[in-house]
Amino acid sequence: QRRPPRFSAPRFSHPPSQPLRIMADGDPIRKWILEEGGASRITRISSVGGGCINTANRYETDVGSFFVKTNRNIGPEMFEAEAAGLDAMFSTDTIRVPKPWKVGSIPRTRGSYIIMEYIELGSSRGSQAELGRQLGEMHKTGSTDQGFGFHMDNTIGSTPQHNPWTADWVTFFRDHRLGFQLKLIKEQYGDNDLYAKGQRLLEKLPLLLQGLDNVQPCLLHGDLWSGNVVADSHGSPVILDPACYYGHSEAEFGMSWCAGFDPTFYDAYFKVMPKQPGFEQRTELYKLYHYLNHYNLFGSGYRSSCTNIIDSYLAVAC
Ligand code: ADP
Repeated sequence: QRRPPRFSAPRFSHPPSQPLRIMADGDPIRKWILEEGGASRITRISSVGGGCINTANRYETDVGSFFVKTNRNIGPEMFEAEAAGLDAMFSTDTIRVPKPWKVGSIPRTRGSYIIMEYIELGSSRGSQAELGRQLGEMHKTGSTDQGFGFHMDNTIGSTPQHNPWTADWVTFFRDHRLGFQLKLIKEQYGDNDLYAKGQRLLEKLPLLLQGLDNVQPCLLHGDLWSGNVVADSHGSPVILDPACYYGHSEAEFGMSWCAGFDPTFYDAYFKVMPKQPGFEQRTELYKLYHYLNHYNLFGSGYRSSCTNIIDSYLAVAC
């Protein structure tokens, strides 16, 4: 079993007698694996499919495998944010996530890479009840006294997601989630109608989210859809590719329309994180953030979903 180096301050270094620097020769990924990752030989590099944005490879070595993603066009900020999210979730020790080891730039390109723990994935999706329970444990354990936000901005899909620490949830969700996406839709598509409706909704948000004055910030994966939920070879749930921040727990279900959670998932989750009064009345509001993001990412096919949700909330909040 490979002993883990730390993400921010790797502890591993090789005995000076090994001539690894020559082998590593300018490739920062090989260099890190050989000098700090504890390996003395890379035996095979194979590509891993299934990602949306980056190129993924498995590096097999004499001390086990590493999972490496590279992007030729984006600097290290995106992977730094992914690593920070993975690290935050990993630290809760509640649900399996790959431990991030290293992020860096690829010399002489605009690109970057992330090296993380390789997890042997199984063919099944794993138990939904286990996923629900462990996600609940993560929400319960992952807390902060800094408010709502995260210590780093990140991306949701490829859309920027701003996470400045904010004392109050309604303000955070209004300004940095719905408000930001609405502004982007106006800028990208000139959709003034949707923007104007959206502004009316933002004004009603304190009313629609009333009763949440004492809501505790908890660590969210932030982009929990089926593509980011897998299981390891023992069938235990693994969550990948986060857009982490500290928020209201219910916002985690904003992507549930793409997640396929079944009743056993929710039963197990609510046993750990009891359902709060008004949960059902807020679900569409939390989905709206992701529908707006889909409109921004993929175009007007998502416009009517956005409009329908806004209209339905405006109707009850008048
Ligand atoms: P992208 O950033 O391009 O969306 P992903 O993070 O989704 O890439 O990774 C692509 C695929 O690689 C995933 O669908 C999953 O099957 C596999 N994968 C992701 N992380 C790991 C890991 N740590 N260990 C093993 N396989 C992984």
